[in-house]
Amino acid sequence: MSLESKPNKKQPYYGSGWGKANQMAMDAVNEICQKCGARAVCVHHIIPLSSFENPNDAHYPENLLPVCFSCHAKIHQEMRKGLPKKKYNKTS
Ligand SMILES: [Zn+2]
Ligand SMILES: [Zn+2]
Repeated sequence: MSLESKPNKKQPYYGSGWGKANQMAMDAVNEICQKCGARAVCVHHIIPLSSFENPNDAHYPENLLPVCFSCHAKIHQEMRKGLPKKKYNKTS
């Protein structure tokens, strides 16, 4: 049974490589939040998926940040505060 190949309306579509990339990022830090040292529950994309044409291009190690739930929420709060949105240009 595969849930990951099914795009979900509520969640951005992470691409077929996400399950593995997510697991590798978690394993690399022993599931420790990179912000506070608590147990990481999710992996944040430093450059958002929406900046990539192909979501699979976003899943490289330097772009993945395993964090706990509250740190992840904080990161996204900061992003919403209107930090200048960096456009990542793949062709440059
Ligand atoms: Zn944390
Ligand atoms: Zn995130």
